[in-house]
Amino acid sequence: QVIYLDGKYVSKEDAKVSVFDHGFLYGDGIFEGIRIYSGNIFKCKEHLDRLYDSAKSIMLEIPLSYAEMQAALIETVRRNELQDGYIRLVVSRGPGDLGLDPRRSPVASVLIIVEQLAIYSEEAYVNGLKTVSVSTRRNVPDALNPKIKSLNYLNNILVKIQANLAGVGEAIMLNSQGYVAEGSSDNIFIIKRGVVYTPPCYCGALEGITRAAIIEICERVGYKVKEEPFTLHDVYVADEVFFTGTAAEVIAVREVDARTIGEGKAGPITTHLLKEFRSIVSVDGEQ
Ligand code: PMP
Repeated sequence: QVIYLDGKYVSKEDAKVSVFDHGFLYGDGIFEGIRIYSGNIFKCKEHLDRLYDSAKSIMLEIPLSYAEMQAALIETVRRNELQDGYIRLVVSRGPGDLGLDPRRSPVASVLIIVEQLAIYSEEAYVNGLKTVSVSTRRNVPDALNPKIKSLNYLNNILVKIQANLAGVGEAIMLNSQGYVAEGSSDNIFIIKRGVVYTPPCYCGALEGITRAAIIEICERVGYKVKEEPFTLHDVYVADEVFFTGTAAEVIAVREVDARTIGEGKAGPITTHLLKEFRSIVSVDGEQ
């Protein structure tokens, strides 16, 4: 495994960052999770756009130009000789002192890790996941904007802990008004009477790149999509529910808080959308 770290390609053992890095001390940084399908970096531009937007928003200067970052991604993938896998791109504020002032961390750290990935079995895509709603609330925009894909993932980790305790793989997080926001690291969709719904980002959803791809597919293949706030009640009575994410792709939900969804397995529209999604991934890449 070859890791890109601040301009060098190093082994896993040599990939070390400073204990004074503010990514570590304060969660001060941003990241992206990106897929490689058939050797192509899927939606590379969308991920880099989101990364550079997150950086701008938190006044983090990425020491690589957009083109240099893209070249570093491609080179790291090439050196790892992986046809299908996952890229974790992290930009942290970099080493500073113990105070939180970012001016004391003049140079950001950049690292790129490429790994194999398989989070759910094919069986899970057919039969769907069980999921629960949790009490942890999504960060609201004035506290930590969900549009910024920052290293502050404590909320998401608390959701994951609650999911673990309930024995399920993913859970549903609400926002402080009680509307459905998203999963611990996935966006959520529901389907009712043939219409596909997903919470607008102002409800506390990350502007997921898989989410955008699914909205695009729905529009292309003729499903009506609405970005509209909804509650847990709407989830319970939906005909189909699924999560989307770079790692999860399109994963059906068969049960929410002990309510069976639809037929208790991946429904026809979810199955269709997964099929369409998988048909675009290897042709819509960057290499
Ligand atoms: N929400 C959160 C909180 C996430 O971390 C992610 C990324 N894993 C997503 C949604 C899905 O976004 P994407 O489709 O861009 O991976």
